[in-house]
Amino acid sequence: MSNYSFSPLALTQVLPFLPLSQAVVDYQVARRDDPGLIDELLANPRTEILLVCGGDVAVPRGQGEIAKRQSVKLRAALLPASYLRDFIVTARKKANLCVIFLGTRDSVPYLALSVPVKSTADLPPDSLLSQVRSRFDWVDLRDFAPRTSALEAGLATSGVTVAGWQASQRYCPQCGAAVEPTNAGWAQRCTNPDHAAILFPRIEPAVITSVVDRDDRLLLQHNYAWKHPKLLSVSAGFVEAGESLEHAVRRETMEEVGIQLGDVTYMGSQPWPFQRSLMVAFKARALTTDIHVDGVEVERAQWMSREEFMRALADEEFELPTKAAVARYQIQEWFGQDLG
Ligand SMILES: [Zn+2]
Repeated sequence: MSNYSFSPLALTQVLPFLPLSQAVVDYQVARRDDPGLIDELLANPRTEILLVCGGDVAVPRGQGEIAKRQSVKLRAALLPASYLRDFIVTARKKANLCVIFLGTRDSVPYLALSVPVKSTADLPPDSLLSQVRSRFDWVDLRDFAPRTSALEAGLATSGVTVAGWQASQRYCPQCGAAVEPTNAGWAQRCTNPDHAAILFPRIEPAVITSVVDRDDRLLLQHNYAWKHPKLLSVSAGFVEAGESLEHAVRRETMEEVGIQLGDVTYMGSQPWPFQRSLMVAFKARALTTDIHVDGVEVERAQWMSREEFMRALADEEFELPTKAAVARYQIQEWFGQDLG
């Protein structure tokens, strides 16, 4: 993977590069408790602000059109805090704007501003926020992260994940009172004075497994839910309540394709904010080879040798998972060469 700088996380995982696992800023978690931190950072001339909206990241005008091209490099539209400070200080009071402290790198503090997906009635249509929404191009994190620097990929992954949670949970799940952001955006406080709980995001782990047989063939499958009819990938599924990761790996593979697994080894993990999930990747050795697809989730599955894989890929008989997906890097690890 010569195109990319290695993440420090590569030291602990088999997969050397995962685009959404590139946290290179110092989180400075201890500072999040300081209630004046966001105001202090907004007044700091070095502070830069990343704009996120739903699952999208703001990039300079013109970059949006080229975002899906293979070799293109993208950069985020990072704004100096001075540009947005007065607006944020005023708007935060009336519009529940969420600002998140992402951390510091080379003495530059980074904030994320969550731009509401829809216009908010609390803000006039000619407000700076409306201008911000129309002044930049917006690129899906899944297209942005594989095509930018480790720093910006990490900032964008944190920003989209935390902002997405703040936007989706507006009321306390225990007492129903409104919530407000706290801990520099990383938590919420229930506004009910009798409850006043601090709430943190719940993450849903999912396992994703590359299965190889005794002849080192890879098991590839196509699921009904996938919108690209030629997409082939590896087995994945959510971990059930009360279940270990290892059990989830064996259960999912047995349920989906009827294959019994032997050794299971850890490959790496990456956050997947679109379902507030964490993808935990494994490689497993199959003890059996007879495939029985469930016909509900999985439409078809097949074993492929490297020769069959190479020929079918060259003939465009199937499509690989996107550059953002951990599955692509698991397939690449098995294949032994960069898949581009
Ligand atoms: Zn509550």
